[in-house]
Amino acid sequence: MRRPGFRNVWADAPQAVGPDNFYDSTVEQYALQPLEVLSLRQMLEFGKDAIYDKAKVLKSARHAQRELPKRLARRLMDLQFLPHIFVKNPHIKRVYDAYLHAFDTLRSLPPACTPEDNARLTDILQRLVDEHAPMLDALASGLRESSSKPFVGPKLPNLDAFFDSMLRSRISRRVIAEQHIHLAQRRPGFIGVIATDFSLREAVDHAAQRTRQVCTETYGFSAEVVCTGNLRASIPYIPIHIDYMLFELLKNAMRAVVEAHRGRRGQPPPPVVVRICDAPSSVTLRISDQGGGIPEADIERVWSYGYTTADASLRSDSGGSGAQPASFGSTMTQLPRPLTSETAHQIRSIASGAQMVAPSAGASGPWRMGGLGFGLPLSRLYARYFGGDLQLVSMPGYGVDAFLTLQHLEGDWHEPLAEHQSAP
Ligand code: ADP
Ligand code: MG
Repeated sequence: MRRPGFRNVWADAPQAVGPDNFYDSTVEQYALQPLEVLSLRQMLEFGKDAIYDKAKVLKSARHAQRELPKRLARRLMDLQFLPHIFVKNPHIKRVYDAYLHAFDTLRSLPPACTPEDNARLTDILQRLVDEHAPMLDALASGLRESSSKPFVGPKLPNLDAFFDSMLRSRISRRVIAEQHIHLAQRRPGFIGVIATDFSLREAVDHAAQRTRQVCTETYGFSAEVVCTGNLRASIPYIPIHIDYMLFELLKNAMRAVVEAHRGRRGQPPPPVVVRICDAPSSVTLRISDQGGGIPEADIERVWSYGYTTADASLRSDSGGSGAQPASFGSTMTQLPRPLTSETAHQIRSIASGAQMVAPSAGASGPWRMGGLGFGLPLSRLYARYFGGDLQLVSMPGYGVDAFLTLQHLEGDWHEPLAEHQSAP
């Protein structure tokens, strides 16, 4: 039951065929429609006088109404392509049903033509954004449960590609939904959810403060974060995206430094140094630590969803007995330990993209500094979403430099089409 023309993320898994009862020709029809992609610049230009212009807001509403069902349909197709054993899992079914419900809800609304239509759409979008927050948790649980059953097949699917595709689409749907929800709201310095002149130094300071706080709660001490370079650099961007990436990178750097330094109390640990470098077309932030680096043998694996070296025995929620590198990685046989409610909470935060602050007080243990194994792959996905990138250079025995590059508007970059595109 191959659908000609649709790019299958499970292409390397020949047995991955969805059952017929999942097949829905309407979904396929939408999934095959071309996407209308907007660059950050287009979103800013379009939105700049939207608070005075009702027609513009309605145009944005109709754009969201057209785009979201197509994007949901593409992910529904990916879920249909999962191997049979996954499709039958109740968690996966829940994700599928939630996406199908959202797809049907949005598709059946008449195009927004009046402010009342728009108010109704905005409410629905907000509700869908909230309802979908736990879906990634369900997906991860479903994949874990299914993969623990005996699996007969010539080749196991690549879960990294699946997560990339699901999460990238999720970022895009949230950007579209939230940009529209906030378009008509007057907020100084913002157009929709985009901060027009976002100070990178402030972003670093904010993330550093939270990182140090979580680190001190976890280990009893923390390293200083020094910010150097062009401290006046600013960029138009969605603040929660930058905040997510910086928080994850600083936590990684801080955890490495503090764990390497634990036996040497008395001397202050070496600082984590963030250098901001502003170039005509991009801004690069280099986050340098002296935490001992990543062994050469592991440097590729750190980009796999679920790969972590966080020590399970130190987690407040685990009776584990030592570091267990685990990975959603490239095969099903390497799935991580069962998700706890705390890690599930973290996944939800990531998935919702909204709650990027440290989890609630009272939670403890190094899991807060890491342990889910999503920080690096998801940060890179966020960076690439608006045309930037994230790279690591490790000096084993010394430390790591993380290079986070973000595009200025001049690049007029728009979202990566390749991942959404149907095959010709
Ligand atoms: P998590 O932090 O939850 O383990 P990440 O994706 O953020 O997941 O990182 C994956 C792994 O990469 C970490 O567990 C760690 O082993 C390694 N790593 C990442 N950044 C650094 C760093 N700056 N120094 C040393 N190791 C690192
Ligand atoms: Mg991390």
